[in-house]
Amino acid sequence: MSRSIKYARPGDGKYSAEYFTNVNRYPDKCPICNVVLEPRIIYASYSINGNSEIVFFCTKRECQSLFISYYFSGDITEWQYLRSAPHNLVTPEFSEEINEISPLFKVIYGQAYIAENSALNHIAGMGYRKALEFLIKDYLINFLEKERVSIEKKLLGKCIKDDVDNSNIKQVAERAVWIGNDETHYVRKWETKDVSDLKKLIDVTVHWISSEIITKRVIEEMQ
Ligand SMILES: [Zn+2]
Repeated sequence: MSRSIKYARPGDGKYSAEYFTNVNRYPDKCPICNVVLEPRIIYASYSINGNSEIVFFCTKRECQSLFISYYFSGDITEWQYLRSAPHNLVTPEFSEEINEISPLFKVIYGQAYIAENSALNHIAGMGYRKALEFLIKDYLINFLEKERVSIEKKLLGKCIKDDVDNSNIKQVAERAVWIGNDETHYVRKWETKDVSDLKKLIDVTVHWISSEIITKRVIEEMQ
């Protein structure tokens, strides 16, 4: 819905009813609390390069944050909404079984996810590789009850080879490590594989580990 707003011009910085324009719309939701509510305009600044900015105030009582929305305003009578910042990402959730055996997996995966969504793709790959290491080693120590000290010391690839019996997990996790190691090394071995392939393999590993935990629990509960 097109709305009329007042704005400030560069130079005098005056924010008054003298300058009026239309915007095609307000942002749908607050980018910080992700709640859909009518935000209040605090200040709008016109830019001659076509990227004008509006400071909004979130009216949700528990949030009350300020955020900036960017509008394209070049050579047009109605500014066009582009995006809002800061963008508060909702990081992926994992099942209770996974969080229980490896609480840090979710934390590290979430940080890698934030890096990936901030265009920090090199850091993201290393982060996902680290998340995978925590998941597998925690699975071995906390679920399969392998000896902690020996697992901690061993390289991840060797842990998978020596200590993982479930062939589904073994096959998938092994390949995830191959791609994951590429993310941390100077020379890439799997040139056609990237972070999205690594994420897919981690997702499948998570799936097989969850399935194994649930299967064991169901059998124990229903002898
Ligand atoms: Zn908010």
